[in-house]
Amino acid sequence: MLQIHNTLTRQKESFKPIHANKVSVYVCGVTVYDYCHLGHARTYVSADVIIRYLRFRGYEVTYVRNITDVDDKIIKRANEAGENINALTDRFINAMHEDFAALNILKPNNEPRATEYISNMIALIEKIMANKHAYVASNGDVYFDVRSYKEYGCLSHHNLEELESGARVEVVEVKHDPLDFVLWKLAKPGEPYWESPWGNGRPGWHIECSAMSMDLLGEHFDIHAGGRDLIFPHHENELAQSQAGSGKKFVNVWMHAGFLQMDKEKMSKSLGNFITIRDVLQQHDAEVLRYALIGSHYRSPLVYTEDALLQAKQALTRFYTALRFLPDREPAKETIFESAFVTAMDDDFNTPVALSVLFDLAHEIQRLRDKDIENAAKLGALLCKLGGVLGILKKDVEQFFQAGDTDEFEKIHSLIAAREKARMEKNWSEADKIRQTLLEMKIVIEDSAKGTSWRRV
Ligand code: AMP
Ligand code: ZN
Repeated sequence: MLQIHNTLTRQKESFKPIHANKVSVYVCGVTVYDYCHLGHARTYVSADVIIRYLRFRGYEVTYVRNITDVDDKIIKRANEAGENINALTDRFINAMHEDFAALNILKPNNEPRATEYISNMIALIEKIMANKHAYVASNGDVYFDVRSYKEYGCLSHHNLEELESGARVEVVEVKHDPLDFVLWKLAKPGEPYWESPWGNGRPGWHIECSAMSMDLLGEHFDIHAGGRDLIFPHHENELAQSQAGSGKKFVNVWMHAGFLQMDKEKMSKSLGNFITIRDVLQQHDAEVLRYALIGSHYRSPLVYTEDALLQAKQALTRFYTALRFLPDREPAKETIFESAFVTAMDDDFNTPVALSVLFDLAHEIQRLRDKDIENAAKLGALLCKLGGVLGILKKDVEQFFQAGDTDEFEKIHSLIAAREKARMEKNWSEADKIRQTLLEMKIVIEDSAKGTSWRRV
C-alpha cells in the first residue's frame, strides 16, 4: 500500500483517498516575476513524479497548480522595468510553460491565476470574519487573528511563543499580535486594486491558495504540496484560514520537497544564488537535468553540481544502451522488476531505489540480448514503461546517442551513404577509409540487424 510522509503528523502514513480511486492534489505554483530557477524545477519535477505515479497506480488525479500573478514583488519588478503588470506576468508564464514542457512536466488539470479568483477570496475573508477569526486593523487592512485559532502552529509544529520569537514574522504596529497575517490590504496610490467591502485593495498572498484550492477541489481534499519553505508561514496560514472559514478539515496530507541548494544554501531569487532552468538547458539536455533532480529522494536536500549532471548523463546512457537495437514488443508482465519498482515508489515515492531497480532491469536486458532477444525486447518495453512513470526514457533511442551539433548531420549522413555504396561495391578499403573519417569526427558506425546506425563517442 502507498505510504506518504505527512508534514502534519511527521510520519509516513498509508494513503487513503477521500473518494475511492480519486485523488485531489493542489501544488502551490510560481510567483511569476522572473524566469524559473532550478529550485522550482526540483519542486515541480517532484510533484510531477507524484502525479504520474498516482495515475500509474490507477487513481484518477485532479491536479491543480496555481499561478501567483499579483504580489508586491511583481508590482515592484513591473515598476522598475516600466512594464505593464499583465505584460510582465504573461511573459514569465510563457517562459515557465516552455521550461516545464522541456523538463517533461505534465500540465496540471487546472492552472488558476490569483487575479481570476479575487471574488472567491473576498467571499472567504467574509466567512472568516463572520466566524470571528479576522479583524479590520486601524489602518483599514484586514488581518487574520492568530490567537483566536487554537490549532495555529499544528503544521510547522511550533507553539505561538516559539513562532513569535522567530525572526520571520513581519512586525507591523497595527496588528493585534505579531503573528497575525494580512488577508486584504488597501491599495497605495498607483498600485493595482480591486473593490471589496473593506475598500479598494488587493489580497494578501496566503488567501489565494485557500480560495483557489477549495473552489476547484472542495473544502476538504487529499494532498497539498510545495517546497519546504512554504510550511511556515504560507501553509500554516492557509490551513488556519481555510478551516477558520469552512469549519472543516482542509487537507489530509501535506507534502514538502527538500531544498535544491547551491553549496550549503537554498537556491533562491532573494539570495541571488540562482541558476535559471533555461541557462542549464543551453548546456545540457533537459532529460539529463530531470534525471539529476529525481536521483535523490524528494524530501532530501539536493546540492546542485555540474558533476551531478555528468553522472545523470552516464546513467541515462546505460539505460538507452540497453534499449538499442531491440525489436518492438509489448512490455513484460508480472516481473520481479515491476513489483520491486512499485515497492520502492509505494514507500513515499522513493525514486533513487526505483532507479536502482531500473538499473537491474537494464542489466538483465543486456544479459539476455544475445541469447533471448524476444524476452530482452519485452523487458526493454517494460524499462520504457517504468521510466515513463518517472518521466524519463521517452526519447527515440538513436536520437539520444546522436544529440549534438545538428549542422554536422548532413555531412555524417552523406558519409554513411558513401560507405554503404562502397560496401555494396565490395570496395572494402574505401568503406574502411570512410569509417576512419567518421571516427575522427568522433562518430562511431554500428551495423546491426536493424541496419546501420551511428552514435557520438
Ligand atoms: P516561488 O516562485 O518563490 O513562490 O516558489 C514556488 C515554489 O518553488 C514553492 O513551492 C517553493 O517552495 C519552491 N522553491 C523555491 N525555491 C526552491 C528551492 N531552492 N528548492 C526547492 N523548492 C524551491
Ligand atoms: Zn500557495
